[in-house]
Amino acid sequence: MRVSACVIPAIAVPLLGAQAGLPAARRGSPSSAESIERLAEKVEPKVIAWRRDIHRNPELGNREFRTAAMVAEHLRSLGLEVTAKVAHTGVVGILRGGKPGGVVALRADMDALPVKEALDLPFASRVKTSYNGQEVSVMHACGHDAHTAILMGAAEVLAARRAGLKGTVKFIFQPAEDSKPDGEEGGAELMVREGVLENPKPDAIFGLHVVPLPSGVVAWRPGGIMAGVDNFRIVVRGRQTHGAMPWYGVDPVPAAAQVVLGLQTIVSRQVDLTAAPAVITVGVIRGGSQPNIVPAEVELAGTIRSFDPGMRSEIQKRVKGTAEGIARGAGAAAEVSIYGGLPVTFNDPALTARMAPVLEKAAGAGETMTATPVTAGEDFAAYQQRVPGLFFFLGVAPRNAEPGKEAMNHSPYFYVDESALVTGVRALAQLAAAYLEGAEPGKDKSGNRSLWSRLGRGTDRRHR
Ligand SMILES: [Zn+2]
Ligand SMILES: [Zn+2]
Repeated sequence: MRVSACVIPAIAVPLLGAQAGLPAARRGSPSSAESIERLAEKVEPKVIAWRRDIHRNPELGNREFRTAAMVAEHLRSLGLEVTAKVAHTGVVGILRGGKPGGVVALRADMDALPVKEALDLPFASRVKTSYNGQEVSVMHACGHDAHTAILMGAAEVLAARRAGLKGTVKFIFQPAEDSKPDGEEGGAELMVREGVLENPKPDAIFGLHVVPLPSGVVAWRPGGIMAGVDNFRIVVRGRQTHGAMPWYGVDPVPAAAQVVLGLQTIVSRQVDLTAAPAVITVGVIRGGSQPNIVPAEVELAGTIRSFDPGMRSEIQKRVKGTAEGIARGAGAAAEVSIYGGLPVTFNDPALTARMAPVLEKAAGAGETMTATPVTAGEDFAAYQQRVPGLFFFLGVAPRNAEPGKEAMNHSPYFYVDESALVTGVRALAQLAAAYLEGAEPGKDKSGNRSLWSRLGRGTDRRHR
């Protein structure tokens, strides 16, 4: 980690807790060991207040100065070991339990988005800032304000039970999940590079995302829950000539058009969609200057979404092969680059099966669902590549919302029903406590295995 025990500039952060000013020794007697449910209920008003405070003061990726200061201040008040300025503005807190045991990590992201809030809330954001050289409005339109407040609450709950805790809990408050200024590094990958998964190394990691499911509903699935994201750029090169006499050159336009269609057959004809879904979208076609010139080249750009690590690498290979093969057939050439990869947010199947009863208990009877895969990406995947992890969704749409009409994440109307936050606190605190209770350190081997390739589908040549 880059900086240890760094001093965060003091900003006026409201002391929301009755105990916030007390020295560590006088805070919540650990021997009382109140239940997580009871402690979560107690912390709920604070979680709501923190969430509103953060919502009113949103900060873009790598600029979460105020939010990070508030988090660090809170973790220190709980007596945690705190490291700040990890991957720019990240904060990591370590809670060492009273008994020896394994290590579990809980993660929240803190960044907001360049979105102008359209909701008329008393704590709506009016914040504007400069972003990539433009003035933009800022809003917590992805609900990371809720994630941060929930994890602050879970830290308070677990800190109150420190004496009975078997092992160590690492609280990871991460910057720049959704947004970061052009040309800057940041987010989960940078946190990992700066050592967030070392000293101590977690045996498992848990995280959540608020989504417009009914408020309080908890949803998850084993395997891929959010997509692996890969973008591609293809340049089809021909030979420029007069548009009236294309036979004097090599026309890259029809070749590029065939590449666009050929790419669609990868998903529809070449990978087993019963194992996991996938999407290929060509979002850019650019080429040519005027009607009577066959251009020298055409540029295509697009995105690949996949849910299985094995299928993901297979699709990447086939995108390259399809584009190059089609271009060659037309006498042209294709140059393919695949970049900006974000791995599949892949829930370790064994860990997911083991923790499912904990999530069921945290959500309550009838309040859980099997999540459908979400084709957006999430950089929580970077942690799951190194440590078995479980990422789940928490519903925050009002119960009376018309189904299908709820505003999606990133909408200027994205709304968080705050009665769901306590469920998030319970879920994270119970996952950590239950994991440590039954942990056999080092036993869970890193997940991210491909269900698809394990089934032999990557190279399936059987005739059926
Ligand atoms: Zn987002
Ligand atoms: Zn998000």
